Amino acid sequence: MPQLRVSIRDPKTHRIEVTLTAHSADSLTTVSLPSWSPGSYLLREFARHIVLADATTVHGEQLLCEKVAKSSWVVHNAAQPFVFRTFFDAQEFSVRTPYLDERFGFVVGSNLFAFTDADLDSEHTVTLDLPTGWLGCSAAFDDFVGDRFVVPNYDALVDVALTLLPPGERHELRRFEAAGKPHAFLTVGRLGARSLESLCLDAVKIVEVCSEMFGGLPYRHYLFVLFNTGDARGGLEHHDSCVMAFPRSGMVNAEGYRDFISLLAHEYFHVWNVKAVHTDALGPFNYLEENYTRDLWVAEGWTVYYQSLLLVRAGLMTPTEYLAEMGERVSQMEAQPGHRLQSLSDSSFDAWIKLYRPDANVRNTRISYYLKGGLAALLLDLQIRAQTESQKSLDDVLKFLWSSFGQQGIGYPEGSMQQQIEAVVGGDWSEFFTTAIHSALPFDWSALESFGIVRSEKASNALWLGARVENDRMLAYVLDGSPAQEAGLMAGDELLAIDGQKVSAAKLTSFLQQYKDGQTLPLHYFRDEELRETNVTLNSKGDRPTTFGLTEAPSSAQANQFRAWLLPSAASLERCGVDASSPRALETDDGRSEA
Ligand SMILES: [Zn+2]
Repeated sequence: MPQLRVSIRDPKTHRIEVTLTAHSADSLTTVSLPSWSPGSYLLREFARHIVLADATTVHGEQLLCEKVAKSSWVVHNAAQPFVFRTFFDAQEFSVRTPYLDERFGFVVGSNLFAFTDADLDSEHTVTLDLPTGWLGCSAAFDDFVGDRFVVPNYDALVDVALTLLPPGERHELRRFEAAGKPHAFLTVGRLGARSLESLCLDAVKIVEVCSEMFGGLPYRHYLFVLFNTGDARGGLEHHDSCVMAFPRSGMVNAEGYRDFISLLAHEYFHVWNVKAVHTDALGPFNYLEENYTRDLWVAEGWTVYYQSLLLVRAGLMTPTEYLAEMGERVSQMEAQPGHRLQSLSDSSFDAWIKLYRPDANVRNTRISYYLKGGLAALLLDLQIRAQTESQKSLDDVLKFLWSSFGQQGIGYPEGSMQQQIEAVVGGDWSEFFTTAIHSALPFDWSALESFGIVRSEKASNALWLGARVENDRMLAYVLDGSPAQEAGLMAGDELLAIDGQKVSAAKLTSFLQQYKDGQTLPLHYFRDEELRETNVTLNSKGDRPTTFGLTEAPSSAQANQFRAWLLPSAASLERCGVDASSPRALETDDGRSEA
């Protein structure tokens, strides 16, 4: 059974030593480190963090260790057990890369632990050798903290998120119970405006809502990890934990806190969608190269949809706030010309080279399967509910996927989502898949009507350039079809003057409003340090924000559909301390009540 040892001598060096002791009957053994972390579809080439790799016998005699590929070595072990030793330079903080300083250390199995093909199904033991007083914290330990753990196979090892905590620094671990299972919440660094206790209370609500939905929790225990950062933000899901990075100044107001708790709900929902329910293209993994799938709009898009819905069900967001958020997301999507160019299925497939590698032109050339995938899930849920008069919903599809595949430990066949939905809901869903998933045609929102919801676009008279100006005058991007593009401007140009007057990023929008729609003005800019002149013709075809509003007098059928979808259940109301029998309990916060 392979044994791994993680050693830290001096955190100030940011170096982590990892040894793998493996038994191999082969005379030459290939050892490799993953190039990517499941859940984050980019080849991050974790081997680039390795500053030294060598191999010895278990008695310390040097063995020949040849590097044969960017992430692989061949050890000349002569059919004997050997020790493969690596030193990592851990200075890149994110929820998926190795980091170490005097305040904390953080690693994910994928970026630290090498494997041999023969041992992928073997139990792996990990031992920590840390400076005095330091402690390891991970869901891999029996009680969340310790210095040694065992995992059943290499996939489980890759999934381990391990935080290393020195004494005397700002971190806090709080244990609590939710839906009958042990949970814990670790915060690292100075916590923002909220107390850890209040974060735990809200986490409990989300856990309970998910437990109700799926009929229990599929893990022995669960750990939430939050790094309080300057401005880093992100999250990564694991089987029985999630790791989040969130700016400590970000929770100051209600909007910022909503942002955080949405992130938490998102990562937590991945326990089911992604970690258990996933396409068979994502597991078993090939850790050394891209694992292509066209179904990331399900993996991430549906999770984005549920991250907000869970908040409504948990009483952490009102239906009115929810509808406002959906309107904002539609506006955000439609402000990106790329949504008319790239389908969700293509966006998923190209995640490895597009979503995770954005350039200045991304808004014109692609659409995020998070943003558009979340709206596709909304549309799908609305259509299922409308067609079945709320007898079925996307919940039923997920519960079916959970029992048919997730609980069986297998992936659903890649590209089979239409058949899965038809199996649960009935009917023919080919039109939805052809238009909303496999093409870049506009979404058909007519199902909103069944819920008494009206979608409207706000007309805008504001003149715009269609370019974002940053660092005072640098163009960060130029939108397709915008006045700026018509004028020949591109990202990287330095905007100097419009109509002979100096313009700055802060004043650009107000500056433009003194002119008329259709007016043509001279514009001066630098490109590659050369002064150039062009003419720009202003128009007011910029953003047209979408809003989702409620019809004034909904029919009883509309009100019932709305209620079944968005009004909290009696259990949710009770969770929030609202008396479910009071008439007020059935109202949204703008007074809509059950008809
Ligand atoms: Zn996600």
